[in-house]
Amino acid sequence: MADRQRWRPVLFSCPRTGSKVQALLAEEAIGLGTYETVSCLACSGVHLVDPTDGRVLGATFDGTR
Ligand SMILES: [Zn+2]
Repeated sequence: MADRQRWRPVLFSCPRTGSKVQALLAEEAIGLGTYETVSCLACSGVHLVDPTDGRVLGATFDGTR
């Protein structure tokens, strides 16, 4: 119950389905200049998303390709 984490919605395009997907990222992770792993609601995969602008790094890294 001591969850003081703040979450911020980030909109990104799923590279696999092309759908716009909204995900929640920890606010403290935003602004570090790193990509965040995001569970995708559209394809049930995981993407690396830049929280600052919603860009997706590459496609996926779950070995589908
Ligand atoms: Zn996806």
